Amino acid sequence: MVLTDAATPGRGAYDAVIVGAGVIGASIALALSRSGWKTLNVDREGMPGHGSTSASAGILRVHAASRDAVVLAAEAIPYWENWADFVRLPVGERLAEFRRCGSVIFGDGSGYGERAAATLASLGEPHERWTAERLAERLPFFDLHAFGPPALPDDDDFGRETDVMIPGALYTPSSGFVADPALAAQNLMAAARLEGADCALRTTVVEIRRKGGRVLGLTLGDGRRIDCPVVVNAAGPHSAAINRMAGVEEGMRVRSRPIRQELHQIPAPPGVDFLADGLHVVDGDLGINFRPEAGNAILVGGNGAACDPIVEVADPDAHDPAVSAAVWDRHVLRLARRVPELRIPSRPSGVAGLYDITDDWLPIYDRTDLDGFYVAVGTSGNQFKTAPLVGVLMAALIAAAESGRDVDTTPLVIRGEHTGRDIDLSTYSRLRQVDHGLVTTVNG
Ligand SMILES: Cc1cc2nc3c(=O)[nH]c(=O)nc-3n(C[C@H](O)[C@H](O)[C@H](O)COP(=O)(O)OP(=O)(O)OC[C@H]3O[C@@H](n4cnc5c(N)ncnc54)[C@H](O)[C@@H]3O)c2cc1C
Repeated sequence: MVLTDAATPGRGAYDAVIVGAGVIGASIALALSRSGWKTLNVDREGMPGHGSTSASAGILRVHAASRDAVVLAAEAIPYWENWADFVRLPVGERLAEFRRCGSVIFGDGSGYGERAAATLASLGEPHERWTAERLAERLPFFDLHAFGPPALPDDDDFGRETDVMIPGALYTPSSGFVADPALAAQNLMAAARLEGADCALRTTVVEIRRKGGRVLGLTLGDGRRIDCPVVVNAAGPHSAAINRMAGVEEGMRVRSRPIRQELHQIPAPPGVDFLADGLHVVDGDLGINFRPEAGNAILVGGNGAACDPIVEVADPDAHDPAVSAAVWDRHVLRLARRVPELRIPSRPSGVAGLYDITDDWLPIYDRTDLDGFYVAVGTSGNQFKTAPLVGVLMAALIAAAESGRDVDTTPLVIRGEHTGRDIDLSTYSRLRQVDHGLVTTVNG
């Protein structure tokens, strides 16, 4: 299905307008549309999913440091497993595909693997403890020496020889990846359009209008105004800018901001079919994580190791999407330690995208102090996997708040239809206290 620019109708035509048609905005449109709401997504890109979603590694990992994050991921993964049934698009539509490859975690001095294992065990989520022998048997093309802690390539410690071996690993069989995240957003938007949703592409929001304590609507770059009782900020790395337009940042204890993140692609070594035999690997020992990529390549990114600088981006519009030689070197030289037969191309290749992070790396799915203005922001480099579920959660939250429920004092608790577990939305409140003990930047 090809999406074209929708003409933006006049006053009162929509029940909700969503800023952004990334994987989150498109998912919210689908869930609201299926609940009978007439929605409009506004996105300045030419296609849904062409914002930060298009840079995503698309990793769906079930392991996480916090119980809430595991609950969310485990509830979301079945949507991906049953994608065709979920999006219900006409036969012949190209669909995003979930590829289950499993995820292995090792060598993380922070204790992430241990915490994740304990959390998975307490929830009864499938996981295995692999011995060093099992790891070596499963990944014979790996050098399993423990090189850590992670260092920068120009550090004296980088490349140091060691006799110490990785002692073992945690393995989660249900994890995997979606190789084309933008296509997933397009599938969601197409599904929403089948329910009557509209999507205005190549259209920029320049103002959020308010009157008294309530949102009035928004103004577009060409001067057109759309009045609407509900506006949702799903603007990804531009979320803080949209929140400032709405004047809601002051009322948020947790805020979002963009940082730069690069992913690099490198061919698998000769003789290794990484697509068939590879896994998603969280290599805390080297500070990287990587997964199989189409064309028998390896897609590698950083793990937020202490030595790796966080690159704050003051203006997401000034972001340079070209990959940098410094981060390429860091990722591929580390990868070459783990996979010694790797042949490093002379030219860097990959993508540079923006994470929309919060201080605790948890998203904000909430109302704001401005009645009718909602946020699905701060997705912190790890909410692609939960996106189909986020639409369901946001639609429930919006419906409850618009029906008069005070979701700040009586937070919504939603029972997951796949796992039967409760999802307490106060975890994702703009008013939560940040728990620095749970901070983890494991990609995906
Ligand atoms: C490099 C990278 C790797 C990642 N890897 C993973 C992973 O492996 N697993 C995982 O679960 N998550 C991952 N993530 C995170 C995940 O991809 C994001 O959380 C998710 O894609 C965010 O979707 P979104 O819809 O909120 O944002 P976006 O896709 O950025 O959509 C927001 C949209 O809003 C539009 N917009 C913004 N401002 C305006 C405006 N003023 N007017 C009109 N339109 C506007 C933009 O054009 C954009 O299309 C990764 C992210 C990045 C950047």
